[in-house]
Amino acid sequence: MKKIALALAAVAGIAATGAQAQQNYPNRPITMIVPFAAGGPTDVVARIVTDHMSRTLGQQIVIENVAGAGGTTGITRAAQSQPDGYTIMMGHMGTHGAAPALYPNLKYDPTKDFAPIGMAAGTPILIVAKKDLPASDLKGFIEYVKTNADKVNQAHAGVGSVSHTTGVLFDSIVGTKPTMVAYRGTGPALNDLMAGTVDFMTDQIVNVAPQIQGGNIKAYAIATPERSPALPNVPTTKEAGLGDYQVSAWNAVFAPKGTPNDVVAKLNDALVKALADENTKKRLLDLGGVIPSAEEQSPEGLQKLVDSEVARWTPVLQAAGAKAE
Ligand code: ASP
Repeated sequence: MKKIALALAAVAGIAATGAQAQQNYPNRPITMIVPFAAGGPTDVVARIVTDHMSRTLGQQIVIENVAGAGGTTGITRAAQSQPDGYTIMMGHMGTHGAAPALYPNLKYDPTKDFAPIGMAAGTPILIVAKKDLPASDLKGFIEYVKTNADKVNQAHAGVGSVSHTTGVLFDSIVGTKPTMVAYRGTGPALNDLMAGTVDFMTDQIVNVAPQIQGGNIKAYAIATPERSPALPNVPTTKEAGLGDYQVSAWNAVFAPKGTPNDVVAKLNDALVKALADENTKKRLLDLGGVIPSAEEQSPEGLQKLVDSEVARWTPVLQAAGAKAE
């Protein structure tokens, strides 16, 4: 009897400290895993939103770049970490949408193994190329890629990443198969594009907008129905004659499954406040980012998005003949 009573008291004690720990959350720095190289689009979005989130939470959010396997290495690590709110992650359309179709042995299920916090930014896709590429518009570019398929190199951030999946989609619509060159993120890929050592890629606007504005790379089209206010001179794919190529990415904050509800609520509140902050919004908008709707900023909205993205990408990637190499 005594033993049981003691055991129960111990359990109650643990429960009490657990609840208290949640109440005091966060009382130490939080780590956000970014599953790509520093300086790329996911990293940029993560740094902009956590800058403001950390002020609301009263704790630093430290970004840890864990790149590899199209983002699935970092997300696997984050998914398997303690669900206590001290390790969170920036996932995206690739890691939480396309990856299951490409990695049969993926160690996480984007629809089940996370506590979604909310979407941080919509990131339209652009077709960009090194500035010396001879073609001056999308039609000319497509012709160039088709006639020079054996010498054209296409950069991407690993199988299952946004640049890979949207790149495969582009190639399948156009009917070309350039040589694919994998990077640990499109930050480093962009450096090579500027240096002219790779020819083109399809990438998220927040990474490429400053270099397009500065004339360091060429942009042939943006794959959204409307032009971006950040790049008013870049035509839409429809205007440029490739209306079938419509694709837009997103980046979103997740915690591991099992993260307590009140911790999720605090993180969501901090994200929503960041996205309502004028300066944070301006930083995202200047790069062409799209501020998510109130629904998309909610955990429920993000869960719905992940469910629909996994369902959407699987047949698209199978039809395009993409697989993990
Ligand atoms: N989002 C990735 C990055 O930050 C690139 C990608 O998914 O294409 O580099």
